[in-house]
Amino acid sequence: MTKFLGLLDIAVVGCGVAGQAAATLLAESGHRVTIYERFTEPQPIGAGLLLQPTGLAVLRKLGLADAAIAGGARVTGLEARTHRGRSVLDLHYADLHPLAHGVGIHRATLFDLLHGRLLQSPAKLVTGTEIVDVDKTHLVEENGARHGPFDLIVAADGAHSALRARLMPQVRAPLYSWGCMWTTVPDLLGIGAAGLLRQRVRGTRLMMGLLPVGRGEVTIYWSLPIRALGRSKTIDLASWRRTATALWPEAAAIIDHAATGDFARATYRHVALARWNAGPVLFIGDAAHGTSPQLGQGANLGLMDAWTLATTLADAPDLLSAFLRFERRRDPAVRYYRHASHLLTPFFQSRLAPLGWLRDAVMGPACHVPGLRVMMGSTLAGTRRGWLSATPLGDNGCFPLDV
Ligand SMILES: Cc1cc2nc3c(=O)[nH]c(=O)nc-3n(C[C@H](O)[C@H](O)[C@H](O)COP(=O)(O)OP(=O)(O)OC[C@H]3O[C@@H](n4cnc5c(N)ncnc54)[C@H](O)[C@@H]3O)c2cc1C
Repeated sequence: MTKFLGLLDIAVVGCGVAGQAAATLLAESGHRVTIYERFTEPQPIGAGLLLQPTGLAVLRKLGLADAAIAGGARVTGLEARTHRGRSVLDLHYADLHPLAHGVGIHRATLFDLLHGRLLQSPAKLVTGTEIVDVDKTHLVEENGARHGPFDLIVAADGAHSALRARLMPQVRAPLYSWGCMWTTVPDLLGIGAAGLLRQRVRGTRLMMGLLPVGRGEVTIYWSLPIRALGRSKTIDLASWRRTATALWPEAAAIIDHAATGDFARATYRHVALARWNAGPVLFIGDAAHGTSPQLGQGANLGLMDAWTLATTLADAPDLLSAFLRFERRRDPAVRYYRHASHLLTPFFQSRLAPLGWLRDAVMGPACHVPGLRVMMGSTLAGTRRGWLSATPLGDNGCFPLDV
């Protein structure tokens, strides 16, 4: 007779995209789940992001996809140009399937959807609780307060994970030397109507992105070296406005508006774990595989982790087998996106000017070579499982989670 793991006491640390999706799915599978968040009021930080067919498939399982599409903007592709108008990237989901698309969405909208869903689930939410360590099966706060015991602890505490630093001190998770500032402003130019994520680059030092995020708004990304992004550093928005307008004159109205407001700042880490777990603690989301956001996959990978974890626990005989199966299922895609992001980032964010020349000479034409176009399109859509393989989209253009 097949033996199954049964229902577990599970702690999830971190109330972000990955943690909330995991807590909801695990609690609704019958496990006793408590999710811990350091902030008293859990909240999203930053502006908009792009949901891919992979992330949308998980949201569909949570019953949230229609609301995400309605609250965001349908995105049909990615178009990047140099300041001279030369095409660098020209990718469309329709190359994979006529019905395929992404969704640009404000973080607050995505957060509210996931949070509302979490609160409807049997998971218990504990806020204002910063978890700094794990002692065997218990979570530990800075003041020594303990929570537990738990059979399984899911660490979803983000790219700068304190639990990863504590439990896997050998893991190097270096900061990228470039980050970005970003904000969301009214779409004064009707950018959203074209349904494209647009980027404008000049060499490897200047990059701006405009992502429609629905509700008549657009998110602006502006690349900066991390030494300019420290909390104590003032960003000269008048000077930024001049540089950005020179890079992208057609976006002047949006730039002017953004220059009167506030930007959030983001730094990223390259996180590569040799194993996904340390004892009963399983790392998911950015805590396990933070990348630069160049390929727009982090939140989607975190949603896929959550789905895979819930389904893997359902048919594993014990926790160790569950971890091994989870790792086998998630490793190919995660490895590919970690490597590809790492490889690509200096072509867009670095001081290495020759990489910019190479990018401008090669990437635009590569988008029109049939095999490469599909490979680059599937990379954008989040469907790759490695350099040589990708999961085909289903008949409806959606990512097939159950194959
Ligand atoms: C500029 C930028 C653009 C991006 N664009 C995209 C995009 O287009 N598409 C995409 O898919 N991804 C994108 N990403 C990546 C995406 O934002 C992340 O991959 C995603 O938010 C990670 O989710 P997470 O749940 O793993 O971590 P987080 O969202 O970081 O959540 C971690 C949670 O844990 C909590 N926490 C942290 N430490 C503790 C602790 N010790 N105790 C308790 N709680 C704790 C935090 O408060 C937070 O609530 C982008 C990222 C950046 C920076």
